[in-house]
Amino acid sequence: MLNSIIQDKDKVWLIDVDNTLYDPSSPIMQYLYKRYIYCLSYKCRCSIRDARKVNDLLVSKHHSTLTGALCEGVICMEEADMFAEFVHNFPFESEIKPNNKILELVKEVKGRKVIFSNAEGLYIKKILALFQIEDSFDKIYDIKKLDYRCKPSNAAFCFVRDDLEIDFKDMVLVDDSMPNLINGQKLGLTIVNSLEI
Ligand SMILES: [Mg+2]
Repeated sequence: MLNSIIQDKDKVWLIDVDNTLYDPSSPIMQYLYKRYIYCLSYKCRCSIRDARKVNDLLVSKHHSTLTGALCEGVICMEEADMFAEFVHNFPFESEIKPNNKILELVKEVKGRKVIFSNAEGLYIKKILALFQIEDSFDKIYDIKKLDYRCKPSNAAFCFVRDDLEIDFKDMVLVDDSMPNLINGQKLGLTIVNSLEI
């Protein structure tokens, strides 16, 4: 079934970044987590231990630290941009391992491809350049472009659908996160679990 979708020029592929384009054994998410906690600790003037608890609450309610911090008034929109940029700006290049199966898939698919990620744009561009796939994507829907709507919310999926002017049934979501895949499927997208390719 995947083969016929790969050949379908009318499908638009929404490709995730973290733990999808790179191998999940890379320690990148741990670094991001530590940097989120550091920022929350600074902003809330609390200990690292309490910042972890704040983060757990934000993520459980809003699925992302950034979106949660913004929705709960921990940070304002201007701070959200700075927060996103700071958290994602670190030298990860020596520790990131490509997910070769997904990179091959990206090169094989005949339809349009866009990035759909809760991460920040400059960080995403660095990863695409490192893996030499920066020309493979028409658009990058990062957390800023999504106005801090994040996957798996309907709002994030609807934003991309409306911007691309296509139906959910013509989209393919490639992602490692079960909540993202489950909601994508509920909305009518074809889903590909990047951990099972
Ligand atoms: Mg991911």
